[in-house]
Amino acid sequence: SHSDDSSAASFVKNPTIKFTKLFINGEFVDSVSGKTFETIDPRTGEVIARIAEGDKEDIDLAVKAARQAFDHGPWPRLSGSERGRIMMKFADLLAEHAEELAALDTIDAGKLFSVGKAVDVPHAVNSLRYYAGAADKVHGKVLKMSRELHGYTLLEPIGVVGHIIPWNFPTTLLFLKISPALAAGCTMVVKPAEQTPLSALYYAHLAKLAGIPDGVLNFVTGFGPTAGAAVSSHMDIDAVSFTGSPEVGRKVMQAAAESNLKVVSLELGGKSPLIIFDDADLDMAAELAILGILFNKGEVCVASSRVYVQEGIYDELVKKLVEKAKAWVVGDPFDPKVQQGPQVDRTQFERILSYIEHGKREGATLLTGGKPMAQKGYYIEPTIFADVNEEMLIVKDEIFGPVMALAKFKTIEEAIKKANSTRYGLAAGIVTKDLSVANTVSRSVRAGTVWINCYFAFDTDCPFGGYKMSGFGKDYGLEALHKYLHVKSVVTPLYNTPW
Ligand code: ADP
Repeated sequence: SHSDDSSAASFVKNPTIKFTKLFINGEFVDSVSGKTFETIDPRTGEVIARIAEGDKEDIDLAVKAARQAFDHGPWPRLSGSERGRIMMKFADLLAEHAEELAALDTIDAGKLFSVGKAVDVPHAVNSLRYYAGAADKVHGKVLKMSRELHGYTLLEPIGVVGHIIPWNFPTTLLFLKISPALAAGCTMVVKPAEQTPLSALYYAHLAKLAGIPDGVLNFVTGFGPTAGAAVSSHMDIDAVSFTGSPEVGRKVMQAAAESNLKVVSLELGGKSPLIIFDDADLDMAAELAILGILFNKGEVCVASSRVYVQEGIYDELVKKLVEKAKAWVVGDPFDPKVQQGPQVDRTQFERILSYIEHGKREGATLLTGGKPMAQKGYYIEPTIFADVNEEMLIVKDEIFGPVMALAKFKTIEEAIKKANSTRYGLAAGIVTKDLSVANTVSRSVRAGTVWINCYFAFDTDCPFGGYKMSGFGKDYGLEALHKYLHVKSVVTPLYNTPW
């Protein structure tokens, strides 16, 4: 126990790194090659720990364990309620360790500690509990056959699943994938992002404590082109679920096609528009727009990176946005006053800064920000560009940083056209008091999620996924559970007479 607040705080800020090895068949093991890689603290650029570097041979071992657990182990054969009970225990363990887990994501990814504790870990807990509750409520149906036949469908777990996870929400995005797959009775191999392996390995430990049988949930840390590629091209993985960039998504799909035609689902980011109409509550609109782009330092696939404002309120709203961006507190993500931590690593940091330079060269108006913030660490100023158009790279590409692109519109038709102008279609936001406007726009934007007078309103029961090049296949909701289930049709004649 800790004698006072400050020693408790320092424990949280310097969590002991207990788990650095691959987790295969219920054991922490070194990689076959014995190689390790460094995971870096983006606040300082310093090394936190060395992590086992998995490659193809390690993925092979993990798949063997998962295959054995699927073909012969108890997990797919347990009743849904039995699997659900173990998942509930897993959820309780997450909740108990929320501080430590949030701290790991803070040092590894630069995420706000307070948010990790209050949002990310609780979201993961909710995912486990939601699908645990659903595990004994999925069933097939009796078919209305046209002849003297009896037909029904069985829902069966799809088999061994590969999950490839990005670094921006190492906790939430891990559980959004493994929870429905566990409930379905699948076994799996997880490849966490190389930038953020720490919490994933801790979750492996908690899974074992919860009683998830060996081989059901395996974790292979390592890099994308090696360990990740070995997942998507594996001949004995039945389905791969990927969240990350479109470039890598394309490779995953190609590898799946060229290997065993495994089932693929992709969540590939976005360039989500937030459309603010003249009748909007200005304070609410400004709040949503700022949070929409600056939350998690803009490293959010659904970030409201394009903000379209109707001409009547444009000047007044822009003033509010700039004020808010300037007042936004950037700094150490453990500090409760801080609203934005460092970008995840040097690569992302430099990529964002190069997009900012692009924006300037392309002729967008830089209203505020645009520069790195500190001597050390990957901090970037909240940045707002105005007067953007659809031809600009900063409007077309996902920047994945605290960079807003702002433009004016006159009519609802123009807003819809602009909103639909990118190749992405993950989410969209609308701010208006007018029901007809809200409903017209929500039915016209090609995006998987539409938030009206709110933003980031995620819920486990709310299916989430993309249109267009934001990918396909849903996470969350019962839709995600069905992603991990096969439908088998079983037919018999109704009577013993020859058919
Ligand atoms: P981001 O742009 O968010 O870093 P990436 O798409 O690069 O997203 O990475 C997301 C995940 O995909 C990470 O776990 C990464 O290691 C993995 N990955 C990267 N390259 C490949 C690849 N060629 N095949 C499979 N997975 C990969």
